[in-house]
Amino acid sequence: MPRKHTVLEFLRALFRGHTYDIRRNSYIIFGILWGIPIPIVTIGIGLHCLGETATVTNIVNHVVAYPINIFFIFHPLIFGIVFGAMGTIRADEETQKLIYEKNIIDKNEELFNTNARLRELDKMKDTFLSMVTHELKNPLATVKGYISFLKTDKESGVLSAVQKHALRVSEDQIDHLDYLISELVDLSMVRSGKFDVEIVLTDLTDTINKVIERFSGIFDKNGITFEKRIPVSLSMVMADPKRIFQVINNLLENAAKFTESGGKVTVGVEDKDKSILFRVSDTGIGIEKENLDKIFDKFYQIGSYKQGSGLGLGLAISQNIIEKHKGGRIWVESEPGAGSTFFFEIGK
Ligand code: ADP
Repeated sequence: MPRKHTVLEFLRALFRGHTYDIRRNSYIIFGILWGIPIPIVTIGIGLHCLGETATVTNIVNHVVAYPINIFFIFHPLIFGIVFGAMGTIRADEETQKLIYEKNIIDKNEELFNTNARLRELDKMKDTFLSMVTHELKNPLATVKGYISFLKTDKESGVLSAVQKHALRVSEDQIDHLDYLISELVDLSMVRSGKFDVEIVLTDLTDTINKVIERFSGIFDKNGITFEKRIPVSLSMVMADPKRIFQVINNLLENAAKFTESGGKVTVGVEDKDKSILFRVSDTGIGIEKENLDKIFDKFYQIGSYKQGSGLGLGLAISQNIIEKHKGGRIWVESEPGAGSTFFFEIGK
């Protein structure tokens, strides 16, 4: 059963000039050729049955005597029209296909150009990022040097309490700025493929204790209980101690940032058979399930409690660092409202 759509298409084609245009529509010739044998065969059989020869007079007489033959005589024409209509439908389909293909080619070209432009912009952004971060780092080091000079230089005279406070605040702010710029430098290195770790055989006990020491004052000040569960000594492991320091530092920084006063932060280290497992737990705000993977993306900060003090790069860089270690992986488990535990593991 032809579909209604096909029938309508056929009827519409009957009213189109293309259906009857023998120069453009070769289907008509095919139809006529297909129809020619029909009157020949039907009239031939008629004449044969009457025992008459196929002369023009006999044929004309036969057609007059049996007018149904007129219908057969018109068959080449009818077939020509029917095939012509099919040719029109086919030509329409071909045109549609060509338009469609051209559209795809155009869109592809557009996409290709947009892609090239985006890549170019991305490259420009990376160059800009790398240039700016390096340009920012140098003056910062000078300012830092002067602050430390003012704090310690005896010849400048004794500093008043207000002056000391101003210098302390400036130093804190500069340290924070330095931290943010370092993150941008790292990102720029990651993006240019130059981010590397210096893996050496090392005992991480010292590294861990150094970070913890840095934070115990901060936790105290923020009213957060701090607990460490670390073995007295750890097996030697292939790692970059500076970068591991950076990862633990980042995890503790986040734990401090997202835990209210009265909460608790725990650092745990487990010396396992084939790896060393680190854990930083907090009883802070926690993370919704749908954000657990996203927080490791560059610049991702959870909207509802976006903190002004970070760039959303720490975890992305930490992941990069850990995955550059043998068997390294980092992940998080969390319960909104109850707290989070960040784990990372490096192979022995
Ligand atoms: P930053 O801390 O600079 O924003 P990070 O990459 O370290 O960047 O963290 C990304 C985001 O992950 C944070 O902005 C925060 O939304 C979420 N996050 C990280 N650590 C914690 C945590 N301990 N508790 C709750 N949310 C966290």
